[in-house]
Amino acid sequence: MSTKMIDDLIVQAEVGSGEGTICSSDLKQPIWSLDVAEGERAKPTYGAGASQWDKAPVFAPLQHQIPAKYRQMAHAELDRRIRAVKETLGERLVILGHHYQRDDIIQYADFRGDSFKLSQLAATRPNAEYILFCGVHFMAESADILSSPQQQVILPNLAAGCSMADMANLEDVLDCWETLGQILGQKPNAEGQQPLLPVTYMNSAANLKAFCGERNGIVCTSSNAETVLKWAFARGERVLFFPDQHLGRNTGVKLGIPLEEMVLWDPSKPLGGNSPAALRQARIILWRGWCSVHQRFTVAQVEKARQDYLGVRVVVHPECPLEVVEAADEAGSTDYIIKAVEEAAAGTVLAIGTEINLVRRLQAEHPDKKIFCLDPVICPCSTMYRIHPAYVAWVLEGLLDGQVLNQIRVDEKVAHAARIALNRMLTVK
Ligand code: SF4
Repeated sequence: MSTKMIDDLIVQAEVGSGEGTICSSDLKQPIWSLDVAEGERAKPTYGAGASQWDKAPVFAPLQHQIPAKYRQMAHAELDRRIRAVKETLGERLVILGHHYQRDDIIQYADFRGDSFKLSQLAATRPNAEYILFCGVHFMAESADILSSPQQQVILPNLAAGCSMADMANLEDVLDCWETLGQILGQKPNAEGQQPLLPVTYMNSAANLKAFCGERNGIVCTSSNAETVLKWAFARGERVLFFPDQHLGRNTGVKLGIPLEEMVLWDPSKPLGGNSPAALRQARIILWRGWCSVHQRFTVAQVEKARQDYLGVRVVVHPECPLEVVEAADEAGSTDYIIKAVEEAAAGTVLAIGTEINLVRRLQAEHPDKKIFCLDPVICPCSTMYRIHPAYVAWVLEGLLDGQVLNQIRVDEKVAHAARIALNRMLTVK
């Protein structure tokens, strides 16, 4: 398997639309051009790629410039240095690689997976003093919450946030909760259900998981959202679901909830843009958040795949809009997609609706099947893409010098409440 597939394609591709094109010329800029120099103001962008056009909030963590020697280092030298630190630290270090990382990061990962699975896998390495999370900010927070106190979690690039997670912040969610409390009341009904129960997607800040933990709420992943929502409806008349409207809506539809009983809460509008009557009638109140990677997929792309390949199997992620999920053959988490590819018979044609790095890797690992991304334009997740070997080498060599750079630490009070919501999820069957 080539180790630099997406990077190589980006170097060769043109900006535009159609085969072998990229969504933005900014992808060709060195990734550290986005880092903040001493005394410089934050750049109002997540970086090149799918969430490039989302507005980065003021609270988004910044990455300051790393030493010039790492920025100037050739790939072969970075590779040699990363492997040397791995060798030196041995079991004291575990490297986690999210499926959406580029191949020249994944090659160093001890474990590959989705965010929750990676945090659980890290817990199977109690001797690892350092957990290097090659993913995004909320994932590193979850790893810190689920690991033991003596373990230190490191995010190689602090600006690797998640634009979707950033669309819901504690202040706005608290405002929403208070407003809804005034409209819906606080008292449980005759069946003991509370008027509203909060459910947060794993892709959210630690303080929002804690918010749920403190209010009888729960966390869900894209694999268990249906089971978690059933659990929530046994305890609440309605659910406030954040931050991804699409996962919430797609799961609601799967549970047979009519679209008229799902309303969208826009935090910039009074009452989220709804009437009190609509809020009272709603079963799910969906936060107005989205993943810019999965929102790129369209019904037209599904139709084109069907036109081009008779019998193609279209599998998409449930962060895609409802109409795309309905046009596809199947929808499921990254693990579901990987399993679908692995278990498909040789010769199967699969059109996949998820992040390009994962799709290209599946393509390389299963040459007996035809696998392609529904979106012909190369547009990786902007924030996952901020993790580059230069940052990995920088933080790893820092460890040898006795410095823990870019540590992600969640306040213990927040971590305790977040663990309650995460543990509830683990007990749901
Ligand atoms: S793919 Fe979407 S949800 Fe995942 S980290 Fe990127 S922006 Fe966030």
